[in-house]
Amino acid sequence: MEKVILTGDRPTGKLHLGHFVGSLKRRVELQNSGEFDKIFVMIADAQALTDNADNPEKVRQNVIEVALDYLSVGIDPAKTTIFIQSQVPELTELAFYYMNLVSVARVQRNPTVKTEIKMRNFEQSIPVGFFCYPVSQASDITAFKATVVPVGEDQAPMIELTREIVTRFNHIYGDTLAMPEIMLPENQVCMRLPGTDGQAKMSKSLGNCIYLSDTAKEVAKKVKSMYTDPQHLNISDPGHLEGNCPFIYLDAFSNDGHFEKYLPEYKNLQELKDHYTRGGLGDGTVKKFLINVLEETLAPIRERRKEWEQNIPAVYDILKEGSEKAREVAAKTLDEVRAAMKINYFDDLDLVKEQSKKYGN
Ligand code: ATP
Ligand code: MG
Repeated sequence: MEKVILTGDRPTGKLHLGHFVGSLKRRVELQNSGEFDKIFVMIADAQALTDNADNPEKVRQNVIEVALDYLSVGIDPAKTTIFIQSQVPELTELAFYYMNLVSVARVQRNPTVKTEIKMRNFEQSIPVGFFCYPVSQASDITAFKATVVPVGEDQAPMIELTREIVTRFNHIYGDTLAMPEIMLPENQVCMRLPGTDGQAKMSKSLGNCIYLSDTAKEVAKKVKSMYTDPQHLNISDPGHLEGNCPFIYLDAFSNDGHFEKYLPEYKNLQELKDHYTRGGLGDGTVKKFLINVLEETLAPIRERRKEWEQNIPAVYDILKEGSEKAREVAAKTLDEVRAAMKINYFDDLDLVKEQSKKYGN
């Protein structure tokens, strides 16, 4: 069986550190591992419209931002097909058929959707399209016969639903769809990186992000105002690590080499944590170190972005070519789905024969 990856992001804003640790970093590693037959990365504009129907300009502007972020982190169009969801209409048709295989109650149970409905004040009136986006995600994944989906933890319920749809589809219509596996970050903190305000998830919609395209000055400012330990008033006070953003970010980004380079008084993160909990270590020192650590990741991304920004038509060409390639693959799956569902009337010569015989001609 082919090894295929599909992941994507909503063009609702620029990509941030949560995306980087939750999914982007892994994608680039997998891309360069040479272990996969095909890799697809999707800019999910149709999904973004499910909760931004009244703001198409926002989605349009952010398609190019997300594409620039992809290219800056090292997603290579020679190895990975980058495409725009709405340019592959086969995905919409698949979603329409899959909707028959899922109950309303099943979607309502999805904890990520539940949180998102609350966050968007959709409790009273939820757009049908938004409610159904997990089903549309199942078509994105299955259209490319993806076997591996590298995403953050918030996507686990979507992959679970996709797996149920695949099982149900294959059971009713015969073996057609490939079964996907979720691939979560290995590092626990990277599964759901909190926001700079200490909220559970860094998210475009919550405005608590450090963006990959932020300037060094913006990053420093955001780190300096990060949520730490409200009880740690004096440097000599013992500090608490739980929910302490700079330490959580260090868990995600720092390594022993960073200590050697920027904070040689400590061998590793454990020593720094021990000092903080004992008392006598100020938040300023931790934050200054974190700024240096983050810059190691962000500076090269920023540089590559600047280069691509000089050539926007080339970026659109990459998206166009990728979308055409993606469409071919999705169309092939759709043909198989239609055949399995017996709605391939004009390709099925047996059908004509069978019906003719029934009417004696
Ligand atoms: P929105 O608020 O518009 O939903 P978002 O910030 O949640 O935006 P998405 O485009 O929904 O971003 O998510 C894209 C991918 O990034 C998904 O795989 C998701 O799991 C991952 N991801 C997003 N935020 C985080 C985070 N804070 N930590 C880890 N992974 C994340
Ligand atoms: Mg999201």
